Amino acid sequence: MQANEVTTERLRRLAQVRPRNGGKVLSVYVDLEPSEFATPPARATAITSVLDEAERELRDAASLEHEARAGLKSGLERVRTFLEQEFDASGAHGVALFCDSGQDLFEALKLPVGVGHKAVIDDAPFVEPLAGLDADSRFLVVLCNRRVGRLLFGSADRMTEVARIESDVHGQHRRGGLSQPRYERSVDNEAMHHIRRVGELVKRRFGQRALDGVLIGAPEETVARVQDELPSSVRGRVAGRLELDVETASPEDVVRSARDVMQRIEREREDEALARLREGLSGGPRPAAARIADVLEALNQRRVETLLIAAGTTAPGRECPRCGWLGVGGDECPADGTPTIARQDIVGPAVQRALLQSADVRYLARREADGEPVVASQLDMYGGIGAVLRF
Ligand SMILES: [Zn+2]
Repeated sequence: MQANEVTTERLRRLAQVRPRNGGKVLSVYVDLEPSEFATPPARATAITSVLDEAERELRDAASLEHEARAGLKSGLERVRTFLEQEFDASGAHGVALFCDSGQDLFEALKLPVGVGHKAVIDDAPFVEPLAGLDADSRFLVVLCNRRVGRLLFGSADRMTEVARIESDVHGQHRRGGLSQPRYERSVDNEAMHHIRRVGELVKRRFGQRALDGVLIGAPEETVARVQDELPSSVRGRVAGRLELDVETASPEDVVRSARDVMQRIEREREDEALARLREGLSGGPRPAAARIADVLEALNQRRVETLLIAAGTTAPGRECPRCGWLGVGGDECPADGTPTIARQDIVGPAVQRALLQSADVRYLARREADGEPVVASQLDMYGGIGAVLRF
């Protein structure tokens, strides 16, 4: 059992999980923030306290049927075994685990930030804290010289090297027997072939993915060529160049060198989305929805392109267990008349629905400009939630 990293794709897949025969899902989050839980004993205490909470949840969940309860109980034992014996906490700021009462699902994800301790039993995986980490997977860095190509993926906080290729290029050394111009032509052809390979790798791995920005680290004479070889969807996101040693730079070096530009792009994206939200709400050509009731309605109609949530927003609501309809009130589903289920927090199901619809979900952190709170306060006008719509 391997602890996976959070990716948008994995989040979308988790958001779609619905246990067979109306079974239940246990979601467990353990906070391992190194500033608080640096030592193994501190981590062990954190794990124990979350497992205790999960046991209480299981005991107190009055509506659970016998079979679901028994299934979740053995799921919890698996979670315990995994955390106590198999899990390697190195590099993790938290871990999220999901298991279902039918024993079909067991998944562990290492988290790049701590998201607090939590144990939740529900009809579907509780992925809301993870969607907040979506920003984790929005930047691509391509490092490429005439011989080596490396792809790093991540955020302003952390980059991970996801691919590396090396090509057998003769390099700068002169070989006997070739006249200088002919030799240089041959090296150029080989370097070109290598850069094309890197471009194809980017296309395969990232051609379909929504990226906020792409940064290229390449020698002066190579950078334009690298950019040309990227697939057009990725090329359109190129935001700048990094001055780094292509072959030896560590992921930490990349973060240090790219952080400012990544943070600037994140903010531009947030501001853009907020501007589109305001325009849409004041009758602009591309519609938008604000406040929980209208946003849920737009999700029911599958119209949401970007879901914007001020960090920490929650709201009560109701969900139809049959068709997934979401609303703030109504004992019966307006679509099929099924009695609806009350949810203490409907923002979580709304995020799941948005991920299912391939919408972009952005949690906006509170930040300040010139000492004034921005972003979140703009969303606060709408109860902390808004959506830019596709139509
Ligand atoms: Zn319904």
